[in-house]
Amino acid sequence: MSTDPWLLTPGPLSTAGETKEAMLHDVGSRDAEFIATNARIRARLLDIAEAAATHVCVPVQGSGTFAVEAAIGTLIPRDGKTLILINGAYGQRMARIMDVLGRAYVTLETDEDTPADPNDVDAILAADADIGHVLVVHCETTSGILNPVQAIAEVVAGHGRSLLIDAMSSFGAIELSAHDIRFDAVMASSNKCLEGVPGMGFVIVRQSVLKASEGNAHSLSLDLFDQWQAMENNGQWRFTPPTHVIAAFDAALDLFDTEGGQPGRLARYSNNCRVLVDGMREIGFKTLLDDDLQAPIIITFHMPDDENFDFQSFYDGLKDKGFVIYPGKLTVADSFRMGCIGALTEIEMRGALDAVRETLSDMGVSL
Ligand SMILES: *Cc1c(COP(=O)(O)O)cnc(C)c1O
Repeated sequence: MSTDPWLLTPGPLSTAGETKEAMLHDVGSRDAEFIATNARIRARLLDIAEAAATHVCVPVQGSGTFAVEAAIGTLIPRDGKTLILINGAYGQRMARIMDVLGRAYVTLETDEDTPADPNDVDAILAADADIGHVLVVHCETTSGILNPVQAIAEVVAGHGRSLLIDAMSSFGAIELSAHDIRFDAVMASSNKCLEGVPGMGFVIVRQSVLKASEGNAHSLSLDLFDQWQAMENNGQWRFTPPTHVIAAFDAALDLFDTEGGQPGRLARYSNNCRVLVDGMREIGFKTLLDDDLQAPIIITFHMPDDENFDFQSFYDGLKDKGFVIYPGKLTVADSFRMGCIGALTEIEMRGALDAVRETLSDMGVSL
């Protein structure tokens, strides 16, 4: 149907034809059809987190960061103190948001290839009763590492504090159920593992916590409490909704269900990841992470130290062959990343491996 390149990136991602086609309609934002679609999406997202009994889903216009900023601004009191677990750029970004909002925080920082240790979280919370909230990233997309959110959630709950999880790059693919993991908020977006198009973030938030958050927000457009109240009143968004994004999201969620929901999606991504990692290792590349720390979302590879290797030429060679990869974002090592999420299968992974072999050979690199 299209000659677009395959996106082996952390998002935006390759999307299915059905998802793109759903955008070929103009719908009124006050129309009953749109209101029904909106309500359906909110319910479906809650179900994915098995949170319908305890939480509500509040969508917000914009990319994922808008949802993170809305959750932080709305749910953390202005005079609160927060612990931020950082092992990559997205943890850093949450600290930056707190700086901009002028809210107090401490950090627990580990290297980009090292998950936060729940015992350290335990010690910090035990020593500081002022810390009311903990922020953690589920899959830190900087490296592709999976942080132990379940163990962290148990520690945070044990101290009676509130946990907010940035599950942007894992939601829908890696299990995150409110039945098993105690969280007050999970932030994610339309355009990662749920394979919609970009333009909408959402927060799965504990209803009792949201109810108590009135007046916290620093911002009108990012006030989740206000957004929720308005949506509960008449089913509508306060400000212009991304109508086409929402139509595409509904279609993407149909495909998600057809695939078998979260377990089905995880199975495809895990297979993509295995094919990609095995193939790249066979070619001679090394992964940053050991397999037991690696989420099947995005993989960081070390740059080869062959003098003929040049990342821009490598990138351009792959792009010419129909595959877009991503530069590294690490501070610890020179690297690049290849994603295995989006509307991709083993076939595209093998295609990408062929393109890598060909491009290396054109560059005169032998690993
Ligand atoms: C993609 C992502 C975000 C949001 O980034 P946007 O560019 O605003 O969509 C936040 N956290 C993580 C872990 C991500 O992977």
